[in-house]
Amino acid sequence: MTPSRARPAHAIAHSHAVGLYYALCLSLPVGHHAWAVGTPQWTLVGPAHVLTDPGRSSVPFASLPSSEHSLSAHPHSTERTELPDPLPAREDPARPPNPPGVAGLRNLGNTCYMNAVLQCLASVPPLAQYFRSGQYVTALRKDCREVATAFAYLLTDMWLGDADCVSPEEFRAALGRLHPDFTKRTQQDAQEFLIYVLNALHEALRKYHQRSGEKRSTQRCCSRGIASETSIITQLFEGQLNYSIMCLKCENCSYRNEVFTVLSLPIPSEYECTLQDCLQCFFQQDTLTWNNQIHCSFCETKQETAVRASISKPPKTIIFHLKRFDIQGQVKRKLRTDIHYPLTNLDLTPYICPVFRKHPKYNLCAVVNHFGDLDGGHYTASCRNSVTQAWYSFDDTRVSEIPAPLVQTSMAYLLFYSWQPFSKATQKCRS
Ligand SMILES: [Zn+2]
Repeated sequence: MTPSRARPAHAIAHSHAVGLYYALCLSLPVGHHAWAVGTPQWTLVGPAHVLTDPGRSSVPFASLPSSEHSLSAHPHSTERTELPDPLPAREDPARPPNPPGVAGLRNLGNTCYMNAVLQCLASVPPLAQYFRSGQYVTALRKDCREVATAFAYLLTDMWLGDADCVSPEEFRAALGRLHPDFTKRTQQDAQEFLIYVLNALHEALRKYHQRSGEKRSTQRCCSRGIASETSIITQLFEGQLNYSIMCLKCENCSYRNEVFTVLSLPIPSEYECTLQDCLQCFFQQDTLTWNNQIHCSFCETKQETAVRASISKPPKTIIFHLKRFDIQGQVKRKLRTDIHYPLTNLDLTPYICPVFRKHPKYNLCAVVNHFGDLDGGHYTASCRNSVTQAWYSFDDTRVSEIPAPLVQTSMAYLLFYSWQPFSKATQKCRS
């Protein structure tokens, strides 16, 4: 049997993950099976069946005659008839292939929230590069590698450029073992899903690291929430807020630091505003009165307090969550405010502590959109491809290139801004 299509990058990702020299990935028509015979130390990952035959001599896997290979069909090609989106095969050879990084994601049953977030994460160039290059393998922790490995396989498949559509089911299954809610066929909140994914990846890849300035900052700040472990997730997405807290009676000041990976921004208008308006609203001085008063160590009692936040560590990729879902007691509503956000040169200078203003300008790299109502609705993503520099709309399996002006919509829910110039990342992503 001849494999229908070789997927070298996918096979390389598998071989990185299990530390093998030989890896082969076959893409077979549905109903066809390949058989492999190997020595016991060969581990076949991904396929449902692993067959080994200790009686065979040790022959490099890749050099075995193809008729002896024992991979079951790749999981991505298995059909699950109950699913809304079957994985379509590329039927039209005349159609030009998608550029790398431009592949739809199969909906596994109300998983548009998952697909939209995964498309955005796959469009953050240094994150995609880290997983596609196999760099993540050296950081993998033995006890919780499943999610990160599945994420790497998924990103590798999405960036191969040979498939119109990829299935995220292995990734969902891996994350579902940690958080069973995500295996249910119910709509979930994309922002919550994003945080779970970032946390799971951080857990799988974290390393202890004494941060510069860590000792100094903990002396004057409450260090709750400041992780002493780093991962690609903290390196790319983690920022730090510094809260200045002033007692309005004695004017004593104190400071508190808090890390963040997603900034949830209030929306100050029902109809129309700018992202800068949301940012100003978030970073404006807040006066805590009545039940919200804070204990002042000088006055030794609760006092009215002024609090102002600023960014003391700007992340390389900053994610904004626009708080469209407004829930006050029993009253829930979705704010449909048309929020104008820039595609390039978002200036965060006013919100960053002066000493940390090294990279105040950010460019938009991805957006999660939410259509419809609070309970239900539909998620899509608009992402900028770091290779073609073009914007693409991702609606589960449906993918189309869109002109930049269409990236701005009143449906935006999550915004991913990156400070790295895309031209530099492009070079890396071609490796
Ligand atoms: Zn006081």
